[in-house]
Amino acid sequence: MSRIRLHDLEFEPFIPEQELSDAISRVAGELEVKYADRRPLFIGVLNGAFFFAAELIKRLEIECEITFVKVASYHGTNSTGRVTDLIGLNERLTDRHVVVLEDIVDTGTTVRYIMDALKDHHPASISICTLLFKPDAYKQNIPIDHVAVRIPNDFVVGSGLDHDGLGRNLPGILRIIKNDT
Ligand code: 5GP
Repeated sequence: MSRIRLHDLEFEPFIPEQELSDAISRVAGELEVKYADRRPLFIGVLNGAFFFAAELIKRLEIECEITFVKVASYHGTNSTGRVTDLIGLNERLTDRHVVVLEDIVDTGTTVRYIMDALKDHHPASISICTLLFKPDAYKQNIPIDHVAVRIPNDFVVGSGLDHDGLGRNLPGILRIIKNDT
């Protein structure tokens, strides 16, 4: 695949589909060892994680469940002034082993919101598992337990990740071409 334009931005191939696939298989192997006989509940964070969730779960040969949520964040009346809801979470999490599936962890703000919201449901454990992780951008102290690929602090699309609605369908990962002129 060559360069591609999405709205106002140009992207170039970055991580080939095969490399991504191999990385997902490695993560699946880690999870199978960790969660055998624990019947984990995977929670995919929409929209971006649909691709990673599907690719990951089809590789798992352990007993597991999967559901999806959307994160809604709005100003409220609590002490921080911000309220976060996980829309679509209907499962009972008490004493369950929960694995959050993210498309990308950047500053970690979203992971922080999700962790805080999930803790209220008293699961036995919570792990974070992400397709892509930008360590140079990360500002939280929550461990990112399972990472398929670490990437530099560049804007990327493909395999579920979009630029203003476009690019989720592109295979592999593409990164932005920076125009320094
Ligand atoms: P956070 O900063 O909270 O870790 O990431 C917030 C959200 O920003 C991610 O869930 C993702 O939707 C979006 N995001 C961060 N970096 C990128 C990127 O490089 N590409 C795309 N498409 N979205 C990103």
